[in-house]
Amino acid sequence: MWVMKVGGGCLRDAKAFLQLPILLRQAYPDAPRLLVVSAIGKTTNHLLAIAQAASRPDTAQVELLFQRLRTFHEEIIEALLPSSQKLKEKLHERYWRPLWQRIQTLLQLPEEGGPAVDAILVYGELISSEIVHAYLEVQGFTTEWIDARQLIVTDGSYPEPNVLLGPSQANVDAQLLPLFRRSPLVVTQGYIASDLRRRSVTLGREGSDYSAALFASMLKAQGMIAWKDVGHIYSADPHKYAEAQPIPHLSYQQAAEMTYYGAQVLHPRTLQPLQEKNIPLYIRPYFNPSEVGTVINEKVAQNLPPIRTHRKGLSLIEVQSLTLSRIDLEELLHTLHLEGIEPYFLQTSVHRVALAVQADPELLERWQANAPPYWEVKMHHPIVLHTILHPSPDSEVPNGESLYLQRSPRGLHWIAYET
Ligand code: ASP
Ligand code: MG
Repeated sequence: MWVMKVGGGCLRDAKAFLQLPILLRQAYPDAPRLLVVSAIGKTTNHLLAIAQAASRPDTAQVELLFQRLRTFHEEIIEALLPSSQKLKEKLHERYWRPLWQRIQTLLQLPEEGGPAVDAILVYGELISSEIVHAYLEVQGFTTEWIDARQLIVTDGSYPEPNVLLGPSQANVDAQLLPLFRRSPLVVTQGYIASDLRRRSVTLGREGSDYSAALFASMLKAQGMIAWKDVGHIYSADPHKYAEAQPIPHLSYQQAAEMTYYGAQVLHPRTLQPLQEKNIPLYIRPYFNPSEVGTVINEKVAQNLPPIRTHRKGLSLIEVQSLTLSRIDLEELLHTLHLEGIEPYFLQTSVHRVALAVQADPELLERWQANAPPYWEVKMHHPIVLHTILHPSPDSEVPNGESLYLQRSPRGLHWIAYET
């Protein structure tokens, strides 16, 4: 069993779809495969823009964006399928019409945020997976399709719900596994799931990698392949740094550390389900399927080059003791933890502590308002945490950039204002 994930950056237009059958004929064609797809191109951003326009409420903008999105999808269908009318009608009945109704509800009850928006966002993946399914059938593949919301169950907490593994596994066993007896290739969606009351939820932006990892774990797959537009993990952003090089191999831990410090290539939650079952993850270039890409498994990679990442949108908290006693670090971390705020960076001296955290500014203000009177608290946002993992002796911080700096053989970290 293989689980393969194809992201929206791969399925960005009709031409990019042509790559899909080529790659499926090449990669483990004789094994059962689950294909997990994201919304096409920037569809999720587009749906978010519709939801935002609806909650302003801006009816004209909503209509314009909705029409544009629908036309974008219909043009892809027309380019891919000889008899596109049937699929267009099916999509109208099953998706565009109910989506339009959801949007109307949001226009009428604009105060309804979060979960109501999720109920709109799920349509991107539902529609793309139907198009993929229909296209693969036309290309001669026997495929089944299943709605991932029937399979992955969460506690419904917003914005990143916790997946309930027991019920999800039971659904996979009862509903997904039998499909493989009918067809070795099954298509489903990434990113979308349901809560215990069967309402739609999403797993957090770019969450399709995570969905695929969950499926790989529940199906006890031999491996997971994430087909990506950029089909390797690089040591730095190759668009920005000439020295960026593809990394052939990382351990789960090493890859997790990179995503923790902001590497965009994988959704941070992806690695855990894979590590638990020791399932290797292959990141491979969608447009160049003969290349190997990056392998992530339990073996620790030696001799890694310096790896450069950054995490934006953080806040810097500076706490100074107003008495002569030192700051009680345990108390400080505990009060933050109670608000769900965890630090990415921490530096202490006797009377001062600096932390970089990711949190909603409103939450931070509340925390600050409740801080004990013997602390003076200052905040700065947005700031960025730069990291170079395994720095070389000549890895340098750009001149004058850092507000705080830490260096050890394992990592060089510094905080700067976001520019
Ligand atoms: N379509 C979703 C997003 O853009 C999920 C994903 O792409 O992984 O965030
Ligand atoms: Mg996407």
